[in-house]
Amino acid sequence: MRFTDSHCHLDFDPLSHQLPNLLLACSERSVKRIVVPGVSPDNWQQVLALKSTNQVTIFKALGIHPWYLKGLDESVLACLENLIVNNQDKLVAVGEIGIDGKIAEQQHNLPQQIQFFDRQLAIASKRKLPAIIHHRKSHPIIVERLKSLRFEQGGIIHAFSGSYQQAKHYIDRGFKLGIGGTITYERAEKTRKTVSKLPLNSMVLETDAPSMPIFSQKEPHNSPLNIPLIFNCLTKLRAESAEQLAFQLENNITSAFNL
Ligand SMILES: [Zn+2]
Repeated sequence: MRFTDSHCHLDFDPLSHQLPNLLLACSERSVKRIVVPGVSPDNWQQVLALKSTNQVTIFKALGIHPWYLKGLDESVLACLENLIVNNQDKLVAVGEIGIDGKIAEQQHNLPQQIQFFDRQLAIASKRKLPAIIHHRKSHPIIVERLKSLRFEQGGIIHAFSGSYQQAKHYIDRGFKLGIGGTITYERAEKTRKTVSKLPLNSMVLETDAPSMPIFSQKEPHNSPLNIPLIFNCLTKLRAESAEQLAFQLENNITSAFNL
């Protein structure tokens, strides 16, 4: 079996200080591909500079995450598009982008979040790239934006949590759902129930390392090394054999990002 971490911030501390040993360890645990999304203009160059090894292939995306909008004006979107055009052969998606309802409440910046989300979706459409989408308390508004912008490129709903109905909205629009540490918590009953019923071709694995601790994690931070643990947890929620599940999860990520 081979695995892909579809969402991991390898350029963040402390992961960035552990390369390339971390990648070697990933390979030993059969994590052979890692997708690294950008989050702000401050980290785009670090993401672009990441290098695959003989054992692990790194794929990259660039975008502006809703947590990092403070002080940014629209001109940065032209920079993003230029960078995407100039690095098209290195990039598999626009992301991570999205809407964060909790931040919108705290910072009163929902209009700015929507503006940046829309504009980045438009860049993805124009460049024929899928999107990596962050959500928190924002499913209805994300679905509404995808519909009204007629976004057709699909991509991944990162760290999906929610009901089957919410999942269906995204699947119907060609998205896959990122399945991560959330399912390792028994209290995440709704999401675990949803994940047990999802179509087999709609899921991809992810850690969101170094954030998003998994249940009973001993290390101080999350790591792509935890992908097999998340996978084991998923096998318990699903009816398919582990082999069938692993095989299809790899196909799903390959097709979501045209790898
Ligand atoms: Zn992330």
